[in-house]
Amino acid sequence: MSACCGQAERGRWVPEESMPSPALLPSVSVMGHCRRRGSQLLLGQECHLQVYEQGGVAQLAGVLANPLPDLPHGTLDLAELQRVLARGHGSPYHPVCELVCLENTHCSSGGRVLPIDYLRQGTVLRLRWHMTAQVPHTQSWSPHQAPDSRPCDSSGGHTQEPPGDLSSLGLAPLTSACPAFQVHLLARTYGARIHLDGARLMNAAVALRVPPAHIVEHCDSVSFCFSKGLGAPGGALVGGPKDFIEEAWRFRKALGGGMRQSGVLAAAALVGLAGAEEALLQDHKNAQRFAKGLQELASPVCSVDPATVETNMVLVRVNGLAPTELCQRLQVVSADEVAQIGRAVHVLVFPWTEQSVRAVWHRDISTQDTDLALRKWALVLRQLES
Ligand SMILES: *Cc1c(COP(=O)(O)O)cnc(C)c1O
Repeated sequence: MSACCGQAERGRWVPEESMPSPALLPSVSVMGHCRRRGSQLLLGQECHLQVYEQGGVAQLAGVLANPLPDLPHGTLDLAELQRVLARGHGSPYHPVCELVCLENTHCSSGGRVLPIDYLRQGTVLRLRWHMTAQVPHTQSWSPHQAPDSRPCDSSGGHTQEPPGDLSSLGLAPLTSACPAFQVHLLARTYGARIHLDGARLMNAAVALRVPPAHIVEHCDSVSFCFSKGLGAPGGALVGGPKDFIEEAWRFRKALGGGMRQSGVLAAAALVGLAGAEEALLQDHKNAQRFAKGLQELASPVCSVDPATVETNMVLVRVNGLAPTELCQRLQVVSADEVAQIGRAVHVLVFPWTEQSVRAVWHRDISTQDTDLALRKWALVLRQLES
């Protein structure tokens, strides 16, 4: 597992800790970084850690989560991030921001992958990062000093002029195309760390066609689940610098997560990792196949944009009936339907928002299953439309 998280990468990623349940990941990761009570965690307002963890970072870590707007790719609004980071920096009044949490792939946006552009700037990032760390904040250095450091200008021309205070910090122009790169630089500038909620890190890596190490090298720590697309019954991992892992180990123990039986979970994790790349790639292809198939049905009840399907999730917009109702109809099987399709097909999808349902692929859903699911959708949609 170390190899997949990049143990070999510049020696930063040596330590890691296993968790019996992914549920311990967020609290332990945040507690490992935010050592003072009342410190601030910046994260997306729809990210898993903010929405689905009972406010565990407040309950357990005494940390103030400050949710920021999510942009469509699952990235953060950089101008807002910079504003909040700058406001707390060195101020005796504001909460001190110690951590920024990113999610990759980003679940609430439908499994979107944080854009690759910043990854291509890896060397440049390190160069700029050192320079940023060495110059006092008041002293400026412009992107012209490192001409190759203009991020993302090969990526489609999103580059804009920097807002005034950003350029005075020596930050490159903000671009919507390279947010994680920019997030890292911003966080460093203001003394915060980056944690990557990489529950689906492997999906992101497969979608970007890079080793997972190329993603996590831009973060200070990462958490990862074996129980999502990899299909293990449980198990999760946290990786990061040694001091972080030592703290995380203590918190895990305090929260009741210490195990003498972790070998059993590790064995399942190894099974999950075996052939993971091909399996996840197949999931992504199946999700894409489904999205296109559903789009071709051209139903007024359901719509989907295959261009937004980047990994193993499909968000389907539902018009004219409650998502829960659609989910129920997809799940039950009528005798009539068995006659039409030739077998009983139960499709399990999740009511996601007030106007959407979410379908997710994993290694137990084959291409044949995907086609059967499409036939079932077609049938249910025809019934709904009539
Ligand atoms: C599943 C998941 C986790 C861990 O969730 P638990 O429900 O606590 O096991 C963390 N982050 C993301 C993005 C996830 O999808």
